[in-house]
Amino acid sequence: MSHSFHNKKIATKFIHAGAEPDPSTGAIMTPIFQTSTYVQSAPGVHKGYEYARSQNPTRAALESALAIIENGKHALAFSSGVAATDAVIKLLSPGDEVIAASDMYGGTYRLFTKVFERFGIKFIYVDTTDAQNVANAITDKTKLIWLETPTNPLMNITDIEAVAAISKKAGTLLCVDNTFASPYLQNPLDLGADIVMHSSTKYLGGHSDVIQGALIVNDDALRDQLYFIQKSCGAVPGPFDCFLVLRGIKTLHVRMKQHCENGIAIAHYLRQHPKVQRVYWCGFEDHHNYAIAKKQMRGFGGMLSFTLKDESMEAATKVLSSTKIFSLAESLGGVESLINHPASMTHASIPKEERIKNGLTDGLIRLSIGIEDADDLIEDLKQAIG
Ligand SMILES: *Cc1c(COP(=O)(O)O)cnc(C)c1O
Repeated sequence: MSHSFHNKKIATKFIHAGAEPDPSTGAIMTPIFQTSTYVQSAPGVHKGYEYARSQNPTRAALESALAIIENGKHALAFSSGVAATDAVIKLLSPGDEVIAASDMYGGTYRLFTKVFERFGIKFIYVDTTDAQNVANAITDKTKLIWLETPTNPLMNITDIEAVAAISKKAGTLLCVDNTFASPYLQNPLDLGADIVMHSSTKYLGGHSDVIQGALIVNDDALRDQLYFIQKSCGAVPGPFDCFLVLRGIKTLHVRMKQHCENGIAIAHYLRQHPKVQRVYWCGFEDHHNYAIAKKQMRGFGGMLSFTLKDESMEAATKVLSSTKIFSLAESLGGVESLINHPASMTHASIPKEERIKNGLTDGLIRLSIGIEDADDLIEDLKQAIG
């Protein structure tokens, strides 16, 4: 892997990470190596590539870029974010325990409870916004701590450094889902995490045209274990999808700057709106863990959620179906703005009592703020809220 851009500033790193001119032609963009196998000159004599589930040059360039932008040593790309999560849990064995955040992406919760619990892995959900809760849940069976910060959709913040210290002391692994922040705003490995997970589908790809996931680590042995799982279980992304994410990363810093700027404008607009009850955004100074957000993030991103004073489903539904620029859809992190109803869409797989207990009410509306003009976005919300 090339690390020549490791110590450059973010904008330079994001554009050049992993991009070596193609050695056979000089092509500045990494070619899409659409092949399943590679010709060997004699049995076992090859150029480092044997079979495309194990190795692909387009994927190798992307993995090199992913490592560099997360300040890590190694990266592995997967066919989706949940496939990356799946690979991490496959490091474990029956009887092992995982401490996970009580407020996290619905698909992660579904994978843990509906798939891996059947294999004898135990998941303990705690409010990780207070690191002490994590320390209290540790047992001699704890093998992994799973964090998401900021969380989806309530924008809760967990102190990565504090949980990393607890994890180190207990001898467990700490994995952080860094999808919402993206490497532009937060680098969990620098704060002591062992594994960073991304749904590259979101900000890394950035254009709502690809499903992909990633894991980034520093430890060589951990990389080898995860690579073994990647090639044995086979959830690898195709070369064209790798090309798309590699291309997305080149503009990540420019897009994130605009997502953050628009996020600030819309968070403040919604907060003063007479019909809005509460805005969930980690950039408000009175946010529960604002000081931690400020410490571990370089900005507050483009995600926020809000509730209306009228808490009925009908009132939320009216807003959700009236926006003209914000499209009603799952997913996030693309250049275009999306509006979402977590209770019936992204988080429908979480049982209602669990959802409500964690503050995810039926009236909650989530926004993925794109990089359109902020005034137009505000105008759109204004007419939709009425
Ligand atoms: C979307 C998402 C995932 C899952 O990723 P896919 O690419 O959809 O499989 C995991 N975590 C978070 C925070 C997400 O937003």
